[in-house]
Amino acid sequence: MTARISGRARAVHASPTLALAAKAKARRDAGEDIVSFGAGEPDFDTPRRIKEAAVRALEMGRTKYTATAGLRELREVIRARMVRDGGLDYSTEEILVSCGAKQSLYNVFQAVLDSGDEAVICAPYWVSYPEMARLAGATPVVVPCREEDGFQLVPEALARALSPRTRLVVLNSPNNPTGAVLSRERLAALAGVLADWPDVWIASDDIYERLLYTGGRFATIAAVAPALRDRTVVVSGVSKTYAMTGWRIGYAAGPAEIIAAMGRIQDQTTSGPTTFAQWGALAALSADPDDVEPMRAEFDRRRRRMLELLAAIPGITCVPPEGAFYTFPNVGRLLGKRYGGSFVESSVGLCDVLLERGVAAVPGEPFGAPGYLRLSFALGSADMEKGLARIAKLVADLA
Ligand code: PMP
Ligand code: GLU
Repeated sequence: MTARISGRARAVHASPTLALAAKAKARRDAGEDIVSFGAGEPDFDTPRRIKEAAVRALEMGRTKYTATAGLRELREVIRARMVRDGGLDYSTEEILVSCGAKQSLYNVFQAVLDSGDEAVICAPYWVSYPEMARLAGATPVVVPCREEDGFQLVPEALARALSPRTRLVVLNSPNNPTGAVLSRERLAALAGVLADWPDVWIASDDIYERLLYTGGRFATIAAVAPALRDRTVVVSGVSKTYAMTGWRIGYAAGPAEIIAAMGRIQDQTTSGPTTFAQWGALAALSADPDDVEPMRAEFDRRRRRMLELLAAIPGITCVPPEGAFYTFPNVGRLLGKRYGGSFVESSVGLCDVLLERGVAAVPGEPFGAPGYLRLSFALGSADMEKGLARIAKLVADLA
């Protein structure tokens, strides 16, 4: 074939989390009994009032383009929400609505990174950050966050990773995949390090901000360290909190200059997000009291149960997640063991064997953390019990 694919497209990897979710679904559709801990999405349906708002919008003929930045009414509601939940004050010109938080993040990477720049990313990281950095021509620089530190980013480690080529630091709390939550104090210490690097942008991925389990209040760096507000972009959305993953609505807030740059990129790629989905998001974000607490409480119940069941499996240890909806158990002690005629050499290998036994789990490798599994607890309780029983049985069969 002489017509070729670009180097950039050849280099980018497909999302392993989406791939696993698709594989589990295909096997289930084909009649196999698979329990999936793979998908980063709630099993709940989108709350009725949100769906009704979107249906109403369609019936009212709200089927045309909106401004690329999103409906002004929606941006007003996001603005009020950010003041209330995060202590952040942005004007509507400083807010951009996108097709999922994923597009918001992609826009940030594209808006601040040039070829040869560095983007500092903390491992374990959400699978898409390094790929987004590379798509912008930049180099991801990975800072390890160790299990002994509760997977928390340590200020000294951040300081070591920064260089004159750094243009972006990505923070994600609550974290996917570890559930680690950065406290106010930790954020203040990290802000102290970043104060010495005035040319560096900060992307704060707050998509799991409402899913906290251990009583702490949500904190985000631009609120903790107002001096950094002028170079921070906050990203969030409705996907996880309101069980709206398929609606594809996320948003970003930051200084007008970068939000305008991101808006120009969005103008030339997707335009504004789907109009009636925006009306649904508006209903989600403006309801008070909203639909989040019952879902959060149920996730917490499942989180505790999953930790209990994991603790009973010899060879697996797990740092309790404080937020999001994943556990990230260490399976290092199971590696090198024999399964049937071969050895389980890596967490990827362990996930392959698990899939044979009817369990879909994401290995640590694509999160930059080999030797771990990511298990979502956003699945139903009965499935969770069944899946963990299968994991326990497999572990018992390893020799
Ligand atoms: N950031 C993180 C950490 C996530 O886990 C996800 C989940 N897909 C996203 C961003 C993107 O969310 P969305 O579905 O709104 O694009
Ligand atoms: N963020 C989710 C996850 O980590 C959805 C998949 C994706 O967007 O990659 O599973």
